[in-house]
Amino acid sequence: MNPLRSLILAAAGNEAIRRLVATAPGTRGVVQRFVAGETTADALAAVRALAADGRYATLDYLGEDTSDRALTEEIVRSYLRLLDELHAEGLAGRAEVSVKLSALSVRTGTGPFDERLALDNASRVCAAAEQRGTTVTVDMEDHTATDATLRVLAELRRTWPRTGAVLQSYLRRTEADAAALAGPGSRVRLCKGAYAEPADVAFDSAHEVDLSYVRCANLLLEGEGYPMFATHDPRLIAVLAERVRWYGRKQGSYEYQMLYGVRPDEQRRLAAEGETVRVYVPFGEQWYGYLMRRLAERPANTAFFLRALASRS
Ligand SMILES: Cc1cc2nc3c(=O)[nH]c(=O)nc-3n(C[C@H](O)[C@H](O)[C@H](O)COP(=O)(O)OP(=O)(O)OC[C@H]3O[C@@H](n4cnc5c(N)ncnc54)[C@H](O)[C@@H]3O)c2cc1C
Repeated sequence: MNPLRSLILAAAGNEAIRRLVATAPGTRGVVQRFVAGETTADALAAVRALAADGRYATLDYLGEDTSDRALTEEIVRSYLRLLDELHAEGLAGRAEVSVKLSALSVRTGTGPFDERLALDNASRVCAAAEQRGTTVTVDMEDHTATDATLRVLAELRRTWPRTGAVLQSYLRRTEADAAALAGPGSRVRLCKGAYAEPADVAFDSAHEVDLSYVRCANLLLEGEGYPMFATHDPRLIAVLAERVRWYGRKQGSYEYQMLYGVRPDEQRRLAAEGETVRVYVPFGEQWYGYLMRRLAERPANTAFFLRALASRS
């Protein structure tokens, strides 16, 4: 892995750096580019703005990896409030929610999170989403959580079959997971993967990750599910357009997904061509870990960010 990327991902877990970023006056603009705001009202405003030019949203209330049950309960309630407000504002058709099981549960000594608690809490969010006329996608975290996440997802899908899965093409196992999840109605987000992973579980070279992405995309397009292609990569987007035609997929039987603040012109271009484009909109006070992963993805973002950190205004 690129050493700069490893360094930034390490900073994601560093409390002193978090404080510095949170308090440096110049970093506010960078945070605003990638995070919709700290409140539900900010998230709804972002959904409205995206809907104005035909884009959809998936909302992520930021918060992850907690050992505190009370905090977990607060996160669940924030999602329930968000779903109520989406419905009340007539926006449930424009936005779904994304959840991280580590944020809905607590760490345990033996696994990445308490699966029982994750299932109970995710079920509360799925039930509320269904009542409010929308869906939930379960984000994928680092490889130590893959099996537990897929187990909880399978349980959720018994009651809420439209619950979205996420697969990461950097993992060597993912082709097999894509084949297993390509069944009728299965909503699957395919991304490259955002965490620092060891070479025995993940491809090291960007080229191998891209090839794996295309192999998994083929499996999903050939299947009977609803693939959700989460990438900003212009080369992959061109390959996907060709693959979609090859498999005879109609617009609306798959979608593109991108992150809030990343390649907005491309998002609008695809939407204007009639593609379904969904933007991942993170919001909430716990924006730091999320921001660090976005910066690690792109050296240009890091330079921009470091300049902002150093500036006084
Ligand atoms: C909707 C959505 C949901 C996601 N959910 C998950 C998840 O659940 N689990 C997970 O591990 N990962 C998730 N990711 C992150 C994903 O795994 C990648 O880390 C991220 O999308 C970057 O990969 P890329 O495919 O865009 O390609 P890259 O190879 O990283 O980038 C290709 C090109 O895209 C542009 N670009 C990419 N990132 C940025 C950026 N931050 N700023 C500006 N330009 C950029 C640049 O032009 C770059 O050259 C998600 C991504 C999206 C879009």
